[in-house]
Amino acid sequence: PADLNALADEYLRLAYQNLKAKDDSFTADLRLNLDSGLGKVNIAAQDMGRVLFNLYNNAFYAIQEKQKQVLIGYQPQIEVSTHRENGRVELRVKDNGTGIPPEILTKIYQPFFTTKPTGQGTGLGLSLSYDIVTKGHGGAMTVESQTGEFTEFIISLPTEREPY
Ligand code: ADP
Ligand code: MG
Repeated sequence: PADLNALADEYLRLAYQNLKAKDDSFTADLRLNLDSGLGKVNIAAQDMGRVLFNLYNNAFYAIQEKQKQVLIGYQPQIEVSTHRENGRVELRVKDNGTGIPPEILTKIYQPFFTTKPTGQGTGLGLSLSYDIVTKGHGGAMTVESQTGEFTEFIISLPTEREPY
């Protein structure tokens, strides 16, 4: 069992520090809304760390891209929240970046699908994350997005199950 809240927090800081190291002027409003009653969750911490790392990097990329497009009055923001309910734990990662157009939304879990320039994306992050969540943990992963507005990934995990 692992502390999902701690993982969610730790990896968000890591991803932000990585970006700051490359571009000191970059700032984003990071919000953590963590359920204090979450308790320990039966997850493979290293694999779930990979999922978080992928989701966060995608979110940071999306807000940076939007920042290039919207020069005035844009406040880049990433909100991470956890919630426990009915034997399940839910984790949400929401960014107010570029969003995902509907015609792309159907392809994002395909291995090697990327809209990023060569060298910036492998297209493997979401496909791997999806497998870790569904096959690895018996969970579900869904996404909601509005072009130009936001993207939100929602992961739902059963708590009463051994990983693998
Ligand atoms: P990569 O990041 O290497 O491109 P991923 O599998 O992580 O591969 O993501 C696939 C594609 O899904 C991205 O190239 C991008 O088009 C889209 N995507 C994923 N997350 C987001 C997000 N938060 N905002 C906008 N687009 C996203
Ligand atoms: Mg990615």
